[in-house]
Amino acid sequence: METNAIFPKGDKLTNGYFTGDAFLKVLLARDKNSDFLLGNVTFEPGGRTNWHTHPKGQVLIVIEGEGFYQEKGKPAQVIKKGDVINIPENTEHWHGASARTEMTHIAITHFKDDVNVVWLHPVSEQEYEEVNKP
Ligand code: MN
Repeated sequence: METNAIFPKGDKLTNGYFTGDAFLKVLLARDKNSDFLLGNVTFEPGGRTNWHTHPKGQVLIVIEGEGFYQEKGKPAQVIKKGDVINIPENTEHWHGASARTEMTHIAITHFKDDVNVVWLHPVSEQEYEEVNKP
């Protein structure tokens, strides 16, 4: 584990919507002026989200490592430290580490009413192997 991390790693996500090991540190909860959740998410190698959508979109800021962002029906994009990904509303996608590298991103996830994410099915081993091919 890196010793120069900007934010604490937080707690391991055990909600069933992630494959492998991922950790969340909530940096700022939604409040009356900030209509989003601000979180730091660390994915160990092999760690990734399920497929999912955000009703008001999401912004990812990669602060460490290298991984993937993929929208349904499109090739996966390699994402790395310094990248900013602006995810449109209601767009099926996943994000996570690569099979061999960890990846940490800040996530800014906007709310529509009281919903900021709609979880779908896991990224299958076959789908994940495909994007990890050299
Ligand atoms: Mn997302």
